[in-house]
Amino acid sequence: MTLVFASNNAHKLEEVRAMMPVSVRVLSLKDIRFEQDIDETGTTLEENSLIKAQAVWEFISHQKSEISNQMDGVFADDTGLEIDALDGQPGVYTARWHLERRKDEGGRTKVMGEREIFAANRAKALHELEGKTHRGAQFRTVITLIKRPTTNDQQPSVIQVEGVVRGRIAEEEYGSGGFGYDPVFIPEGYDKTFGELPAEVKNSISHRAKALEELVKVINKTYDQI
Ligand code: IMP
Repeated sequence: MTLVFASNNAHKLEEVRAMMPVSVRVLSLKDIRFEQDIDETGTTLEENSLIKAQAVWEFISHQKSEISNQMDGVFADDTGLEIDALDGQPGVYTARWHLERRKDEGGRTKVMGEREIFAANRAKALHELEGKTHRGAQFRTVITLIKRPTTNDQQPSVIQVEGVVRGRIAEEEYGSGGFGYDPVFIPEGYDKTFGELPAEVKNSISHRAKALEELVKVINKTYDQI
């Protein structure tokens, strides 16, 4: 079976391929030569992961290639950090939260590298929770799978699954492992941040791992007739 994962992120691809049953071949956007920018214009994680999966589905469906003939489905993920004391913000704006902080400071827009963006996002999280005792938060990943219909007269089916890891925002940054908000996120049941915990621990309890587990269950159930 062949599924396309709507991502070129090497770290995510590795994680996804490691979790999939051996019978599932996972192709990246690079593998299918998808080079368009997808506008993530949704206002929820559900919408954005659907937008990504649909864009890639459309692209493949309009191609007459070996890959489009073999393809059994497309899936895409979207992740957000949801902070309790901020009514679930930054949520769908997690990747770009630092832009708000820059606006607050009246700074001019400059091109930032990924590490700089992550650092600015973490600074924003610490700043927003300054002096707050309730620091509960969660990472949530939504994965949308668009599954090829079994007969030509059927519509493709859309299935969404999610994975959540609860935790809290630390008082300051600890550790340098992982990426993004990892140095400021302490998962429930631990007293260390994702930035301090070994990658194996993070990858066994993370939002993405849980969403992937759900996806694998769906794949095992819905594709058993293939
Ligand atoms: P994406 O939807 O997976 O691209 O994630 C959106 C943003 O959420 C990223 O740019 C990161 O800032 C943050 N993020 C996603 N997953 C993680 C994680 O595992 N640890 C820390 N931050 C994450």
